Amino acid sequence: MNIIIFGKQGCGKGTQAAKLAQKFGIPAVSVGNRLRELVASGSELGLKLKSYMDKGELVPFEINVAIVKELIDTHPQGMILDGFPRNKEQAAWLAKEWQVDVVIELEISDEEAIRRILERAAIEHRSDDTPEVIQKRLDIYHHETEPLKHLLSAKKIIIIDGSGSIEAVFEQICKKL
Ligand code: ADP
Repeated sequence: MNIIIFGKQGCGKGTQAAKLAQKFGIPAVSVGNRLRELVASGSELGLKLKSYMDKGELVPFEINVAIVKELIDTHPQGMILDGFPRNKEQAAWLAKEWQVDVVIELEISDEEAIRRILERAAIEHRSDDTPEVIQKRLDIYHHETEPLKHLLSAKKIIIIDGSGSIEAVFEQICKKL
């Protein structure tokens, strides 16, 4: 089963993807986490990626799709993909590479998103969780990623209010799946 989990920063994609993975045995794969692994490796590629990520910008298309292609190839039984696609170019590429069964979209307000990211920042110390960079990431989300809502094609698209508790949101997702 190929699932895309979609929504703005702080909407709970990672949290809900992990819960779905546990319940249904489908691996949750975060492109952002994979990029952070590459940054942590200290390689030349990692350093290049870090320069975009620390500014809140999307990393270059060619590097990004090579990473996602590898994730697709290593998960032939399916996965819950988090963090891709984020713009039209990526969505067009994905449509040719991967058959999507379900899109799960989590909706929250920008205010709630910022509140949650800052709360997380106190614990995780991600270098892109400063107020300016968070705003930049949300701007890119609104301009480039959000319009994809109407472009992504899948057998099933479910839209969930992500503002409730982790358990309440999870229950809604499971009910609609
Ligand atoms: P968030 O969605 O909260 O901004 P992620 O961990 O998903 O956090 O992504 C962190 C950063 O990784 C992004 O700001 C961007 O620099 C990079 N990134 C993640 N996914 C993509 C993508 N699909 N295309 C380009 N860059 C990406």
